Amino acid sequence: MTTTPAIDGWFTSGDLPALLGSRCGLCATVFFPRLDGFCRNPACSGEEFETVELSRRGTVWSYTDAQYQPPPPYIPRSENHEPFAIAAVELAEGLVVLGQVADGYGVADLRVGAEVELVVEPLYTDETGDRTIWRWKPVVELGAEADQ
Ligand SMILES: [Zn+2]
Repeated sequence: MTTTPAIDGWFTSGDLPALLGSRCGLCATVFFPRLDGFCRNPACSGEEFETVELSRRGTVWSYTDAQYQPPPPYIPRSENHEPFAIAAVELAEGLVVLGQVADGYGVADLRVGAEVELVVEPLYTDETGDRTIWRWKPVVELGAEADQ
């Protein structure tokens, strides 16, 4: 049994996982997911992109509670939908990347402007083993940790 990404080529694994984006060779705009073909910047005619690792940390721009099971291709974890939190996270590159919040965290752990860190966690298990996806994990502030 192995651990493989549920979506190929969108993020790296390991101790310090990172999302993979494309940086336009002409205007240096960074896109996620990766881009092929033409730059999405309407003022740019760039066609060559470099794959770059995106910032591992960002700040919460918005978040919501998924109270209803999302439609396919979402893969449910169980028959009964368990609500989970989704965060839109702004990265230093100027991108906002949506992601589920890490296991064990919910909307109560989030606030706009709070720092979160990228983690890779199992999404589901198939015949080949665990399939993983990126998630956003709230960064515990040092002061808050000391109070516990
Ligand atoms: Zn461009």
